[in-house]
Amino acid sequence: MSAGEIPKPRAMGHRPPLKVSTEGRERLIALAPGCVRPTGWVRKVAEIEADGWMEMIVRKDEHNLRKSFYNGSPTPHGGEWSGYWNDSFIGLALLLGDKDRVREHVEAVLAAAQKKGKFLSEHYSGWGSHLQIRALMTYYEATGDERALNLCHRVALELLDDLNSPDGHRFDGDHPVNMASSCAQLCGYTGDERMLPMAEEIMARFDAGGLPNLRRLLEDDRLAGHCVNYCEDIRHPADVYIFSGNPDHLQASRRGVELTLRDHMQVHGVPTGNEPVNGKGPMKETEHCDTVEWSLVGHSLLAATGEARYADLAEKALFNAWAGSRKWDAGSICYNHAPNQITASSWEGAWVPRMNYSPYHQPQCCNLNSHRAVHPYVFRMWMLPLDGGLAAVYYGDCRLKVTVPGAGVVELIERADYPFGEDVSITINPEAPARFPVSLRIPGWCREAEVSVNGERLAGKPKAGTFFVLDRAWKPGDRIDLRLPMPVTLEWCEAFVEPAFHDVNHPDFNPEHTTQIGLRAVENPIPGRHLVAVSRGPLVYALYIKPKFIVEPHEQAVEGYPVENVVPAEDASPWNVALALNAKRPEDSFEFVRLDVPAGSAPFQYPPVGLRCKARPIPDWKAGGTSDRPLTTLPEFPYKASGEEIDALLVPFGCTRIRLTWLPFVLDG
Ligand SMILES: [Zn+2]
Repeated sequence: MSAGEIPKPRAMGHRPPLKVSTEGRERLIALAPGCVRPTGWVRKVAEIEADGWMEMIVRKDEHNLRKSFYNGSPTPHGGEWSGYWNDSFIGLALLLGDKDRVREHVEAVLAAAQKKGKFLSEHYSGWGSHLQIRALMTYYEATGDERALNLCHRVALELLDDLNSPDGHRFDGDHPVNMASSCAQLCGYTGDERMLPMAEEIMARFDAGGLPNLRRLLEDDRLAGHCVNYCEDIRHPADVYIFSGNPDHLQASRRGVELTLRDHMQVHGVPTGNEPVNGKGPMKETEHCDTVEWSLVGHSLLAATGEARYADLAEKALFNAWAGSRKWDAGSICYNHAPNQITASSWEGAWVPRMNYSPYHQPQCCNLNSHRAVHPYVFRMWMLPLDGGLAAVYYGDCRLKVTVPGAGVVELIERADYPFGEDVSITINPEAPARFPVSLRIPGWCREAEVSVNGERLAGKPKAGTFFVLDRAWKPGDRIDLRLPMPVTLEWCEAFVEPAFHDVNHPDFNPEHTTQIGLRAVENPIPGRHLVAVSRGPLVYALYIKPKFIVEPHEQAVEGYPVENVVPAEDASPWNVALALNAKRPEDSFEFVRLDVPAGSAPFQYPPVGLRCKARPIPDWKAGGTSDRPLTTLPEFPYKASGEEIDALLVPFGCTRIRLTWLPFVLDG
């Protein structure tokens, strides 16, 4: 493209064409939903969600999640729950290629809207409306069905009236900023010029809590707020930027991410949030919703910037925090989870303890929001770079057939055991030999990536944290082999006591927690004083504590999805240990091993890989609470390890239900 030339609004043959130009600001363009067909563990996760848990919700529908579309009945939290449900139901059905299921549902929505003359009742706030529009727009992008687009447009116009009316109330409630990206997206697809100023006005007037979002993100030195709202505040400006071109919008999102990484990011890849963001700490909790919302922040900034680092953030959130705070059956979620927790229980936690596994927490946001994580990830496994060709963004087993501009139809078959394995192979089958670039994401942690084409290793080293571009002629059967060696990396921290974050006078305050433990990074680790956390590539590892599930009789339990507390099993290895690390090269203290996984088990049910190492007991380190209701503690500092070395096993955080991630250590040798 020559300088100054404005590209035409795109119609890539993958999703409906935009009616306004984005002038090259969408650096990585998503394919139409459903274009990428996952075939490995990601597909298995989606099937478990769609055929098990989601079907159960449809059958029970006790919260009117579906009916609220049809009869306009009041909905919990301004349509939030119903919106989460609809977004995941449509997304998962498209991901699995289940056209009948999605068509039946959307036809019912369209018919009901026609009958009553509108789609959503006045019970839907700007937040709930955004979620419903997001769901139907996903359907529109997959099918081009203009009826869905028109319905969404009508909802936005109703909200525009509300925004301009002194009596308007649909932006008064929670999360009003959410409609911003829906308006920008509708501007793109309908060409309605009222929609973009509406998006900009929403961001100027509201964040998710009702403050001016843009000014706060661009000017404040520290960001605070409820973590779900907080993530939404950061995400929407990047979505709007693609259509507005206002550099402040992109800068607001970028700055939001940097301040979060500095102040609130936990080792498992998601900020603290119980429920406001709350600094860093080994026992500080994160709400499950935040794991989904933070991954969406990564996806949005990835699209707007084309920078690989934002994809790193999204996948780290999913592989670690998201997978580690839900059960493999997809129905039981921990409302809150933490890096260090020797129980996942209804008694542990600083604020309204909800760390147990349950199919229905109160509020029910997390159980419904959890299922909005997989399809946005799959839809972006392959994307279209602005400069042409194809980009491999998120690695995993999948197939797809796409029209590459200037190259015709190309089929891709990808095999990758990622993130558990390091090897990715991609077979490229263009309908006829053609030249086009294939870009490969090299994660920021990968400094030794290797690329081969048809068995021949390419010279030069792909740079970590960038897209490595292979611009060449391709013929059917050509094969790319990508090796992503995963180094063990260590983080060191110092724990300190700080005042409790929550209002100690609040009736829900747990008097066990008048103070809390914070963490700050240290450069020179001292045994006895500091803690270590271990990662390998995109996976964070935690000390394996064999879990014991205790079913808790509970009115919230449903068939097949019990309410459970998890504690260390009687025959679990001791958890009160210090890792025994090699003093000269601590990273070399670990042996990477493959572990046997029972046949037929679900992804993340059992760890398929681990890091073996040595440890020494810390006899003085004991659980708090009582023997039948233990509580997580840190050792007394300076801690003292003594006795014989024992074997320890660290496993991926996402495969743990209870765990210790920040660990004491000793240096040997
Ligand atoms: Zn939640």
